Parts: sequence; C-alpha cells; structure tokens
Amino acid sequence: MLFPASAPVPSPVPQAEAPRDCPLCPRLVALREACRAEHPDWWNAPVPAWGDPGAWLAVVGMAPGKQGANRTGRPFTGDFAGDLLYATLLKFGLATGTYRADPSDDLTLQGALILNAVKCLPPQNKPEPAEIATCRPYFEAAMASLPTVRVLVALGAIAHAAAARALGLRPSQARFGHGSEVVAPDGRILLGTYHSSRYNQNTRRLTPPMFEAVFARAVALRDG
Ligand code: SF4
Repeated sequence: MLFPASAPVPSPVPQAEAPRDCPLCPRLVALREACRAEHPDWWNAPVPAWGDPGAWLAVVGMAPGKQGANRTGRPFTGDFAGDLLYATLLKFGLATGTYRADPSDDLTLQGALILNAVKCLPPQNKPEPAEIATCRPYFEAAMASLPTVRVLVALGAIAHAAAARALGLRPSQARFGHGSEVVAPDGRILLGTYHSSRYNQNTRRLTPPMFEAVFARAVALRDG
C-alpha cells in the first residue's frame, strides 16, 4: 500500500517539509507532473524525512528514486538501494520490525532518521547544481530542527556535500570518500559511504561489508 496523497506527512520535522506542489524547480516539477499523469497512485511529491525525531544518527541520501521513494513516499523504500540500507539499519539495531519495501510495513527507526538533499525525483537520478541549491533551505531547516543528531552518514558525494555545508564545513574541509570522517565545528561527525545504488553494488564498488563498516563506525562513535 502506498501513502495516499492526502495522508498527513509522517515526518519527524514537519516544520521543515516542502509542500506537495513545491514549484521551485521547474525541471523536477515537470517530471513530477509527468509521473502523476502516468502513475496517479504513486506518491509523486517531495519526499519527507522519516524516522525517529530524537535521532542521534541522520542518514543522508541524494534524492528519491523513481521506483523507490517517489513511488512509495518513504525514503529508500521500494528500490534496490533501500534493501541494503534497511538490512543494515536492522542489523545494527537502528530499526525494528520487518522491512517489506512498503510504507505500511511495521518497520520503525530507532535513534535514526533518513532525509534527502533533494526532495523531488530528478531525471536520470541526477539533480542539477541549481536544484540542489534550491532545495537546500529545506534540508538545512531539517538539520536545524534535529539538535540530537550527533552523527551523519552521507550516501554518495552529493549528499555528503549537502551535509557538510549544513554542518558549516567548507568543501576543502570535508572531502568525500568511502569511509571518510570529518568533525564539524560544533562536534557533529560526518561519515561518508558510497551510495548503496544498484550500480555500485553490481560493480562491487560497494559491498555489504563495506557499507556495514561505516555504520559500525557510527555506532562506535555513539558509544565511545
Ligand atoms: S527539489 Fe526541493 S525545492 Fe525543488 S521542487 Fe522539490 S521540494 Fe521544491
């Protein structure tokens, strides 16, 4: 079952969410309208953050996938990348329940939440720099509303750059790499991982143990 378009947005930061018909990125609005015409039962709107409002860990993605969050309305839900992400969150006790690639499953995040740098589906999964900049106020408002977040795990370079900027880090201070780690001026810690995309996993650029090692480091930072 998908979220009906009229359902309340189940966001831990509702004050930082975009309206369903946010008009600010014309290219993404055009794709949204095309998806609504083609798949009227899909979410087809800015995807809200999801998870524990008291989270210590923020998982930062780039943007919704067409068959994933753009379809279901919940980050990383229903696409290939979500399978490894949610399996990993469950493995490390950051989620409970069963992930069934469906927002109506009983999965709950514990101490973690997920949000994207860009809230709308981009063509070919590639947001333009201007779109990343235009959506930045929503992302930074969400981060500002999450004072308990101490560790961020960014999936891929675009998410990492957005998270670094929100933490007050210059690009030269926060170079992205798999396993990268940087401390922000306020003490929050940003970890980087290759994105759990189908391409990265099929090419073995990212393996499950590599991905899990980053989350193991996040948990160690929490505990240490
Ligand atoms: S990507 Fe962000 S700023 Fe652009 S239309 Fe979607 S919600 Fe609005």
